[in-house]
Amino acid sequence: MELKGRYGDFGGFYVPEVLMPALEEIEQAFLKYTKDEKFLKELDDLYKYYAGRPTTLYHAKRFSAYVGFDVYLKREDLLHGGAHKINNTLGQGLLAKYMGKKKLIAETGAGQHGLATAMIGALLGMETKIFMGSTDVVRQSVNVHKMRLLGSEVVPVSDGTGTLKDAINEALRYWTATVDDTFYLFGTAAGPHPFPMIVRYFQSPIGVEAREQCINQIGRLPDIVTACVGGGSNAIGIFSGFINDKNVRLVGVEGGGKGINTKEHCATLCVGKVGVLHGSKSYLLQDSDGQISETECISAGLDYPGVGPEHSHLKDIGRAEYVNVNDEQVLDVFGILTRMEGILPALESSHSLAWVLTQKGKLPASTAVVVNLSGRGDKDIGIVEEHRPLKM
Ligand SMILES: *Cc1c(COP(=O)(O)O)cnc(C)c1O
Repeated sequence: MELKGRYGDFGGFYVPEVLMPALEEIEQAFLKYTKDEKFLKELDDLYKYYAGRPTTLYHAKRFSAYVGFDVYLKREDLLHGGAHKINNTLGQGLLAKYMGKKKLIAETGAGQHGLATAMIGALLGMETKIFMGSTDVVRQSVNVHKMRLLGSEVVPVSDGTGTLKDAINEALRYWTATVDDTFYLFGTAAGPHPFPMIVRYFQSPIGVEAREQCINQIGRLPDIVTACVGGGSNAIGIFSGFINDKNVRLVGVEGGGKGINTKEHCATLCVGKVGVLHGSKSYLLQDSDGQISETECISAGLDYPGVGPEHSHLKDIGRAEYVNVNDEQVLDVFGILTRMEGILPALESSHSLAWVLTQKGKLPASTAVVVNLSGRGDKDIGIVEEHRPLKM
């Protein structure tokens, strides 16, 4: 039995035969270069001097006083590009270069992963194509423009609903014909093996740093580590640092949208059923016929009907908890953190902050909570204004 790339019963690689050798090649290269000192040094330098690692762990004192326990923010929002995505694109981009690939392809929904790929495509001098649903191309025109400025080609995909899942399908289809010289730079800790493994690895500095910073700054491990979950990359990045610390609660927060009893939400682990999507077995949002459901929540970055297989496993074995908050809770806490700390959190990251707010008055004052602030909210101010217009 083939057990490679399995997380309990989840994961695997359910892909067309022609992609098997390409995935195998990436796996072998990953295993080789993550033991190669030259590769590791170059990646480390890029993390440090290009992206801005290590990011700080910031004690949000006013927000802590408000909720009644200590809240620390892992400031991935301070990275180049304004989110954790650059950790993964630098890692995979460098891997592609070491493998001798000349071209990069990637999928994007909201445009954040496309943008982070376009940046490193420019940095590494590689020809880059970004597949993006045609609906998203219209909705995210600023990011499309930025990707083009960076020299990437944006390929609109009009299949299906013209959103992320269609872009991934098309990127996989395109890859089958171009595997020889092209590297598929996947955006989250989902998809076929080895992507969940390599994305986790390239996002793991978040968890490694956070754990060390807790010990240095708080003098102990935190009680709770929380992160938002879209495909699951920022969450697995920070969780990975604490998975073996059995007393640390891990809480993943999904997009409850307009409520999980409506059709408009992105709460895959909370209400999904097990199935196969984009080459991997995991929880999925699907209807009773097994058709993939449309997802919708206030932050485009969480808008994905699947989730990384390791999260499905962590849920089933009870090592991590998965909860959801709705759009109104997200908008509330966006306003609160902005006014109290002078930090505009991404709407994605605001999901984990909103869950922290639900714990106000419920946790002892001695509790220390680390929130992965996956990105900055500058990109979201238009959406916030639409829902909560400022009174002039
Ligand atoms: C893309 C994105 C996410 C969601 O992706 P994950 O793979 O679940 O981390 C979360 N936060 C921000 C800021 C993002 O850009």
